[in-house]
Amino acid sequence: MNNNRYKILLVEDEANIRTFISALLEVNGYQVILANNYAQARTMYFSYVPDLIILDLGLPDGDGSLLLSEIRVNDATPVIVLSARSDESEKVRLLDLGANDFVTKPFGSAELLARVRSSLRSYRHSSDDGRLPGGKFVLMDLVIDYDARRLFINDEEIKLTQTEYNIMALLSEHCGKMMTYSAIIKAVWREYPDEGNIKRLQVNMANIRKKLGLRPGDNKYIVNELGVGYRLQD
Ligand code: CA
Repeated sequence: MNNNRYKILLVEDEANIRTFISALLEVNGYQVILANNYAQARTMYFSYVPDLIILDLGLPDGDGSLLLSEIRVNDATPVIVLSARSDESEKVRLLDLGANDFVTKPFGSAELLARVRSSLRSYRHSSDDGRLPGGKFVLMDLVIDYDARRLFINDEEIKLTQTEYNIMALLSEHCGKMMTYSAIIKAVWREYPDEGNIKRLQVNMANIRKKLGLRPGDNKYIVNELGVGYRLQD
């Protein structure tokens, strides 16, 4: 039974935060492996092969983002970055470095648990290329039929342009992961991000949201982190 529990490596040097998070995770059925610093985190990562890593950036013996780069060389293990900084360019840098998500301190229990579930879900999806049996993606009442390239809500088709469909298909294949503007633009338009195509992306997203029946600020299906990117989530 215990073997079925997700193993989470928690890397955090502040004892009170470490205790708080590990208690929270254990109560919610996760198995927690602890590391207090960068060196220990490396050792634990290689010996335990965790399902998810929660990574503090400010460690006494090194920057947590170094560990993120090392892991990403050949491993897609989801990483949630714990950061005291909330500046957008730093978030974008970490996401483009391969972080799945970030949680800015101080954070609440519900928020952290939601991010953990979401990242574990995105990992399970990415291992089978985001496609459920039958070539369909399902998120609440939203269904994407990849073979037909069509999107439905409550069994009713939402007519999307090719570009809008491509954006939704990309987000669905990375469901739960915050996708930066740059990652979306490279995948959808095969261009390097600049002001022009970021604007184009935002216009497309606004149209998609309207077609999905979302009002401004409504986070159903799509979360917009201003200046950073978009995430599909339940
Ligand atoms: Ca720290």
